Amino acid sequence: MKVLCLLLVVSSALAIPFIPKSGKEWTPESLVNPEELGEFFEGDIMLPLPPRTKNGLLDERYRWTNGVVPYQFSSQFTSTQISVVEQAFADYASLTGGCITFKERTTESDYIRFTQDDTSGCYSYVGKIGGSQTINYPQWCLDQYGSVQHEMYHALGFHHEQSRSDRDDYVTIMWDNIQAGAEHNFDKYSSAVVGGFGENYDYGSVMHYSAYAFSDNGQKTIVTTDPNAEIGQRVGLSQVDVNKLMNMYNC
Ligand SMILES: [Zn+2]
Repeated sequence: MKVLCLLLVVSSALAIPFIPKSGKEWTPESLVNPEELGEFFEGDIMLPLPPRTKNGLLDERYRWTNGVVPYQFSSQFTSTQISVVEQAFADYASLTGGCITFKERTTESDYIRFTQDDTSGCYSYVGKIGGSQTINYPQWCLDQYGSVQHEMYHALGFHHEQSRSDRDDYVTIMWDNIQAGAEHNFDKYSSAVVGGFGENYDYGSVMHYSAYAFSDNGQKTIVTTDPNAEIGQRVGLSQVDVNKLMNMYNC
């Protein structure tokens, strides 16, 4: 028994923070966000990427007409789950002064289909791609409200904040701590492809990865230049997120 206790003490002293490797292992205490755990491009982005995507797509073809986003829920959703997603619709509308609205699809051919494949991660396409496009919300994604908004923000036309061309002025990517094969999640885009929509780099963006995203060893993969900055919040859209969205959609 003494040996066991000693082992427990030693192993907990040496314990590295638990970084889940899949969404199913995610809990609210995890050091990373649920949508950072998918096996997709950058964790939660479905390919193909539009060719012109600082983190918002510059090409207007990938925007939703008049800021109206038609949607449809798959039959898997319970009313409780629908109410979480509807809260995000309401927040987008109120934060943008009614400029961005989600409305239930009637006959529109371009729309978002919300699905709940829990064998897969949370994911979205970037921008309106045409036809039916999926946002997948397994329960662990719905459990983190900011991740619900995060996926919608992709579909409205934005990449991750740390993909901005100027990110190296604000964060240092710790390549040696990243899981082998996951390095592509930290790609950045040239300013010819993505735009900042009038806003500076935002540590507080709901689109910024957390400090431990794709960590292989429990060490940070992203270190902020400002030592007091916090990244990876998933409470909800930041004011800068809202401003960029309103600039993109000419609100
Ligand atoms: Zn994402």
